Amino acid sequence: MEQESAKLTAQDGPMYEGKAKRVYKTDDDGIYMVSYKDDATAFNGQKRGTISGKGIVNNQMSNLFFQLLEQNGVPTHFVKELNERETLVRALTMLPVEVVIRNLAAGSMAARLGLEEGMPLSRPIVEYYYKRDDLGDPLVTVDHIEVLGMATPEDLAQVQRLALRVNEVLSETLRKVDVILVDFKLEFGKTKDGRIVLADEISPDTCRYWDANTKEKLDKDRFRRDLGGVEDAYAEMMRRVKEVTRL
Ligand code: ADP
Ligand code: UDP
Repeated sequence: MEQESAKLTAQDGPMYEGKAKRVYKTDDDGIYMVSYKDDATAFNGQKRGTISGKGIVNNQMSNLFFQLLEQNGVPTHFVKELNERETLVRALTMLPVEVVIRNLAAGSMAARLGLEEGMPLSRPIVEYYYKRDDLGDPLVTVDHIEVLGMATPEDLAQVQRLALRVNEVLSETLRKVDVILVDFKLEFGKTKDGRIVLADEISPDTCRYWDANTKEKLDKDRFRRDLGGVEDAYAEMMRRVKEVTRL
C-alpha cells in the first residue's frame, strides 16, 4: 500500500513544531508524520515543564482512540503507528478552531461561570475556541466562526455532530474502566475532497479524566495544578485505555 511506504523526506526538519508535537512532511504529500514530545505547557505557554514518557502515552492513547472511533463511524486522520512516539496521519487543512465538549463543569467553564467543579450538566455542552496562541485562544460563538469564515455552516454542523459522537463513544468506553470523561478538546481538519476528519490527539493532555470512585484526577490537571504524581496518572490512564480497547 502506498501509504505504508511513506517515509520522512531525508533532509527535512519538522514542517511545524508545536508545544507538544512536531509535524513532518513525508514523501507522500497526502501523509504527514507526527512525533510526540514530553514537553508540557499550560496557561497559554506561561507554565512549562516535562512529563517523562508523556509523548509515548499520548501517541499510543490517541491511536487506540482513533481506531475505536473509526470502528464507530468517526473518520480520523490515523494511518499507521510507526513506533512509540511517531505516527503517520492524513495531511489535512486544519480548521482554526478548538472544539471543547463538556459533561461536567470544570476548568475554565467552572471558573468563568462561578460553578463548582464536578457539577453535572443536563446535556453535553459544545464550545469553540479560536486557535490563536497570540490571542490566548479566545472563546468564540458559532456566529463568529461562520461570519469570520473560520468554517462554513455546513462544516461546523458536521464538526458538532462528530464531536458529540466522539463524546458518546469515549464516555461509554471509559466508564467501563471507572473513568469519568469530564471534558476534552478536539481539532478537525479537511481533506482535499472536502471531508471533515478528526485530527490532532486525544490524550491526558487534552481530556479531563476522573477516577469514577475516588474522583482522583488522571490527566494534565496534575501538572497544571502542581498536584504531583503526573507520570503515574498518565501511566494509569494508559493501562486502563489499553485494557478497555482490548475488550
Ligand atoms: P500546538 O500547535 O497547539 O502547539 P501541537 O504541538 O500538538 O499543538 O502541534 C500539532 C499541530 O499539528 C497542531 O497545530 C495541530 O492543529 C496540527 N495537526 C494535527 N493533526 C494534523 C493533521 N492531520 N494535518 C495537519 N495538521 C495537523
Ligand atoms: N484543552 C486543551 N487545549 C487547550 C485548552 C483546553 O486540550 O488549549 C482541554 C483541557 O484539557 C480540558 C478541556 O479542553 O480537557 C477544557 O479546558 P478548559 O476550557 O477548562 O481550559 P483549562 O482550564 O484546562 O485551561
